[in-house]
Amino acid sequence: MHIKLVFLGAAQNVTGSQYRVEASNVRLLVDCGLYQERKFRNRNWAPFPFRPDTIDAVLLTHAHIDHSGLLPKLVREGFQGRIFCTDATADIAQIMLMDSAKIQEEDAKHKRRRHEREGRKGPYPEIPLYTVDDAKACCSLLSPVRYGELIPIGDGVAATFHDAGHVLGSSMISVTVSQGGETRKLLFSGDVGRWNKPILRDPTLFHEADYVLVESTYGDRLHDDSETVGNQLADIISSATRDRGNIVVPSFALERAQEVLYYLNKLLMERRIPHLMVFLDSPMAASITDVFRNHPDLYDRDMLELIQQGNSPFDFPGLTIVRSIDQSKAINNITGSAMIIAGSGMCTGGRIKHHLVSNISRAECTILFVGYQAIGTLGRQIVDGAQEVRIMGQKHPVRARVAQIHGLSAHADRDELLRWLSGLHSPPRRVFVVHGEPETTAKFADFLRERTGWEIAVPQYGEEITLD
Ligand SMILES: [Zn+2]
Repeated sequence: MHIKLVFLGAAQNVTGSQYRVEASNVRLLVDCGLYQERKFRNRNWAPFPFRPDTIDAVLLTHAHIDHSGLLPKLVREGFQGRIFCTDATADIAQIMLMDSAKIQEEDAKHKRRRHEREGRKGPYPEIPLYTVDDAKACCSLLSPVRYGELIPIGDGVAATFHDAGHVLGSSMISVTVSQGGETRKLLFSGDVGRWNKPILRDPTLFHEADYVLVESTYGDRLHDDSETVGNQLADIISSATRDRGNIVVPSFALERAQEVLYYLNKLLMERRIPHLMVFLDSPMAASITDVFRNHPDLYDRDMLELIQQGNSPFDFPGLTIVRSIDQSKAINNITGSAMIIAGSGMCTGGRIKHHLVSNISRAECTILFVGYQAIGTLGRQIVDGAQEVRIMGQKHPVRARVAQIHGLSAHADRDELLRWLSGLHSPPRRVFVVHGEPETTAKFADFLRERTGWEIAVPQYGEEITLD
């Protein structure tokens, strides 16, 4: 057996997922993600350490930009093969990659103007990493597959996608390699979702694998359960409506926004919260919600029942999905008891900034965080209790109540990751722990060694390993 596995991203860090597999005469990439951590962003600009035109196919686990965001660059630099992914991932990736390309173009324009004004040069070129045209060319290569379908890549190499329960259309991918009468199975976890998450089905369990790459984003933590989420949300909404204040919710456009709608719909149906106006004010979240509507085939049983009973979380009384800027501006005139869900999730851009300006200095309002807030973001400043924040160049005192719900993570926690691995009936030859901060990855690797006795490795960035 001779299989080469190269760790080109999400090795001792969280973003930039990219793994290269070489077996027989086939070269594959699993994911091709953008680096989002500030200290690793220079890697986005570095040339690929291989010729993109020598890659036969890309297997894409899901649409999140840290897994898909370098694909337009790969295509621009010569990749011509197919990008296999589920059809929901293809639909969402088109929305997200086009948006990412627009941001790249705008960033380059701003940078160029700023540098001209300041008469200096920055560390990176003032051209976009890729353009909207590059993203369009990339999207034309997206090739939808079904869960469970065997995808022959060639020369004894094949792949199968399975539901990861992380975001709509997300996958775990098994790659089988047959050489000289022997077969090896490589299992790529992608991002592992959670059991009993709203809308989505549970992560797929696997009974056998020779090599496993497992993510470890929350490998040293345990999440609150989803029961708690509903109760917390009900409490926050009840006190906000009592005070006649708005609730402003910064949210990611994919999965988180739809989950918040799911919980709201449920609480309204159970009459646990008063009737309120809900605005989903994000063109991207609106488009992604349409993809959710078009894929009932991916719902769990609970969600299917809701739809069959006419109780869709994407269409309940009081919900307005806002696309136009005029409609968005009109929301600013509402002074009480509306929930406004908008992007971006960490308040670094988008319409949420306008809604914060209108509400953050009003004591009767609530800013509700439903996702992780990275260090250095406006969201993190607010969560950390800043008395005053700067939004779009103006200072605003923080008088609104600040609340946070932690239980909505889309990633498995430590015990859920162990639960996923425990599906294996016999020890794999080796488990590679990837996609986590270095300390988290190390802790999770130790935890796995202790609990399973298996051979656990923590690969370095750029490391090449030969599998036998
Ligand atoms: Zn993800």
